[in-house]
Amino acid sequence: MAAAGGLAVVLCGCGGPSVRQQTSVDTAMGTIVSQTLYVEEADGTDREAAPESTMESACATVMEIVKELEQRELSWRIEGSEVARINGLADERDSEEGQSPGQEKGIAVSVSPPMRDILTQIWQVSEDSGGALDVTLGRLSRLWNLDGREESGDGTAFSGVPADGQIQAALDQTGYGRVGFWEDGITLPPGMQLDLGAVGKGIACDRIRAYLLSQPQITGAVVAVGGSVVTYGQKSDGSPWKVAIVHPREEGNYLGLLSLTGEQFVSTSGDYERYVMVDGVRYHHILDPATGYPACSDLCSVTVVCGSGLLADALSTACFVLGSEQGMGLAEIYGAEALLVEEDGTMHMTEGMKMIFSALE
Ligand code: ADP
Ligand code: MG
Repeated sequence: MAAAGGLAVVLCGCGGPSVRQQTSVDTAMGTIVSQTLYVEEADGTDREAAPESTMESACATVMEIVKELEQRELSWRIEGSEVARINGLADERDSEEGQSPGQEKGIAVSVSPPMRDILTQIWQVSEDSGGALDVTLGRLSRLWNLDGREESGDGTAFSGVPADGQIQAALDQTGYGRVGFWEDGITLPPGMQLDLGAVGKGIACDRIRAYLLSQPQITGAVVAVGGSVVTYGQKSDGSPWKVAIVHPREEGNYLGLLSLTGEQFVSTSGDYERYVMVDGVRYHHILDPATGYPACSDLCSVTVVCGSGLLADALSTACFVLGSEQGMGLAEIYGAEALLVEEDGTMHMTEGMKMIFSALE
């Protein structure tokens, strides 16, 4: 069992006679990565290909995949990553040319084919959600700094609610609709900063699945990268994968369990993990690009299940911002299953979600 949307807890089911399983827990992308792998035991005399060594090297490879994705591609914090390079170019020009609203100069930046594919998918969700998902809000997320992650060097805890003027200034440098796409890259307004935090863990799950597919000895796996989970293949007893949904208001408790096949991705976004309370108000890390403030819909947790890690992660964030009514509509556009939880505990589920979710009393 893995847990979506909280510390990943993995309880193992039993392995059959010829399949071994192993669970390991580590950290990457500022969160906990937990993996349970099932590996087929080689027949006969080939003790070289012992399942233990296969599992060990597979676990290590999974960790490497997640860390490399963060370091080389997605992190805006890590110098040398592709996103940091893109942001650096937009920033440089910003200071060269000064800010001149109304006189927008696009900065053409070439991007790698995988990044272009990632951005294209994200932009589609941005359009379908009316901008509820907007990864161009880097200035704003840095201003709020509600991620709860320490940066190297100067350490950056949340330092108070920003002034309205600061929020407005940051918002002025956001807007997915202001980005142009061309064959080999994108064109950004000067000063705009990307933050792919809303989709990073889901993309990690996509990459993990691609790796697992290339490993014939691995017959089944469930890997949780923070609140994003990928299920793969089968357990030795053929029973469904179980993923627990964290209770958004009762620490240590679960709302229920999802029963999943081996081809699914789960992502949970909530206001309960990375937040601070100021004068009784909860300031959490999912921002509403329309207001510049933490999203204030009727929801406190959203879980999405679908066939893509990136989409599950993108949709869970977008649905959270949109609220229960529009969020349900967005999930339906993608044929995704969704569980939307209101502050008072009311749950909204797509029809397919009702089939796979069982509540814990
Ligand atoms: P988590 O990263 O905890 O799994 P999410 O997937 O919901 O949670 O992503 C939240 C992160 O995405 C924030 O920390 C911030 O970096 C970024 N973000 C916040 N609000 C938005 C938004 N409306 N659109 C795109 N990215 C956002
Ligand atoms: Mg997300």
